[in-house]
Amino acid sequence: MSNITSEYGFTIIVPLYNEEDNMARLESSLASFLEHSIRKACVLFVNDGSRDGTLAGLRDICSRNSDFHYISFSENCGLSAAIKAGFDYAESPLIGYIDADLQTNPEDFNLLLPYLEDYDMAIGVRVKRNDTPFKRFQSRFANSFRRMMTGDGATDTGCPLKVFRAAAAKQFPMFKGMHRFFPALLLLQDGAKYKEIPVSHRPRVAGVSKFNIWNRMMSSFADCFAYRWMKSRYIRYRVGESDILR
Ligand code: UDP
Ligand code: MG
Repeated sequence: MSNITSEYGFTIIVPLYNEEDNMARLESSLASFLEHSIRKACVLFVNDGSRDGTLAGLRDICSRNSDFHYISFSENCGLSAAIKAGFDYAESPLIGYIDADLQTNPEDFNLLLPYLEDYDMAIGVRVKRNDTPFKRFQSRFANSFRRMMTGDGATDTGCPLKVFRAAAAKQFPMFKGMHRFFPALLLLQDGAKYKEIPVSHRPRVAGVSKFNIWNRMMSSFADCFAYRWMKSRYIRYRVGESDILR
């Protein structure tokens, strides 16, 4: 199977659920980033079963921008599923991820990409976070609990600006909620390493957040135990000898 993303060095996955009010900003800021991306890049929108004008907007945007493409789910499957579809369909050697609300800036992909020479993943850390104090508190609490449970050492796994070597991303065991565990999932892979880079952050100016304290915090709490189980049962092997390798 081959698709158009195989013609690029870098595929940017953008998950969208009811984000019609962000479409115009997405088109202009991603188009301007593509012009000076340090890797030849395309955008892969993943519409997660939106019920508003998102899909119609995507069809329009992708018809006028030759480096913009989309996948559309027939129903809402959740953010982890949208990201997994992006990982499954991207055929470029490098993959990026950014949220449709553009609280992080696509320009910062150029800060992260050089680290993929030496690392399997580079992730943003939101230095000056522009969210409500309550959301920042939830995030700080969740990050420290997850760090304690997983030992992943990551400062800000929720930052929606990340880049991956496709070979590493495609190996992540993906379940609902697993988009919050990428550093921990990466460390399951033999010898894999990631780098954290400070990135800019701004308020959500259009559309609304799709998560609340229950679906963000409570499921992550349970997922920490699922991760520990996965880590204890993860399969790793090294081939010492074979006659099929050339
Ligand atoms: N999203 C999605 N499917 C969902 C919920 C959210 O694809 O079921 C997308 C959403 O459109 C956005 C990203 O995931 O691009 C993050 O969502 P949001 O900004 O609401 O989360 P927050 O930043 O508040 O944690
Ligand atoms: Mg957001």
